[in-house]
Amino acid sequence: MPFSFQERLSSIQARINAACQRCGRNPSEIVLLPVSKTFDAPIVREAVAAGLHRFGENRVQEVRDKAPLLEDLSIEWVLIGHLQTNKAKDAAQLVGEVQSLDRLSLAEALDKRLTKLGKTLSVLIQVKTSPEPSKFGLEPTELLRFLEQLKDYPTLRPAGLMTLAIHSDDEAAVRSCFRTLRELRDQAVQAGHHTVQRLSMGMSGDFEWAIEEGSTEVRIGSLLFGERG
Ligand SMILES: *Cc1c(COP(=O)(O)O)cnc(C)c1O
Repeated sequence: MPFSFQERLSSIQARINAACQRCGRNPSEIVLLPVSKTFDAPIVREAVAAGLHRFGENRVQEVRDKAPLLEDLSIEWVLIGHLQTNKAKDAAQLVGEVQSLDRLSLAEALDKRLTKLGKTLSVLIQVKTSPEPSKFGLEPTELLRFLEQLKDYPTLRPAGLMTLAIHSDDEAAVRSCFRTLRELRDQAVQAGHHTVQRLSMGMSGDFEWAIEEGSTEVRIGSLLFGERG
C-alpha cells in the first residue's frame, strides 16, 4: 500500500464527491461503509483513529473474534455477508445492522433472538440483481411480498435494500443491477413501505457507477484496507 490509511480514505472521499458532482447529488447523501473483513483488530483500530466507527463484516464469527479486542472503542458492526440461521443468536447480540436479510426463516430466527434480548435491529433486504449463481438474495419479484411478511417480525426495522452487482467489466451490465435495485426501492416506497429508503450498493470496483445510479451507501474494502490475502 503506497499511501497511509488517511490518504486512502481522503482519496475515496474525493472520488465519492466527484461522482456526486457528475450526477448532481449532495455528497452528504452517501455513507461510506468501510469493509474490514479479513483485517485484524489493530488495523480496525487505525481506522477508528481516522474517524470511522461503523464497519462491514461478512462473517458473524469474525465479529465475534474481533469485537472483544476493540471493546474500548465505540464501534457498530454491520453484517453484509450471508448469515446462517443457526448464527442468528450471535448476530442479534453483536451487530447493529444486518444488510443481508434474504429469507423469512432468517427473519424469524433473528426476531426470536431479538425478542429475548429486548432489542430491535435495522435490516436491509438483500436482492439478487444479477444471474450469477454465487450471489445470494431475494428474487426481485419476491420483494413486495417479503416486505409484507416482515411485518410479522416487529423487532426487525426494514431500512432499505442491498445488492452486489454482477462481477463484470461491462459497465452497462453493472449499472443495470444498480438500477434494478433503485427501481425496486421506488416500488416498495410507492407500495407503502416508507422506511425502505436506503440503497446499499457499490464496492471498490464499481462504487462510482453505483452512486450515479442512486446508491446511498457504498461498501468499500480493498480500496481502503488493501488487497485481501
Ligand atoms: C467484501 C465485500 C465488499 C467490499 O468489497 P471490495 O471489493 O473489497 O470493496 C462489499 N460488499 C460485500 C457484501 C462484501 O462481501
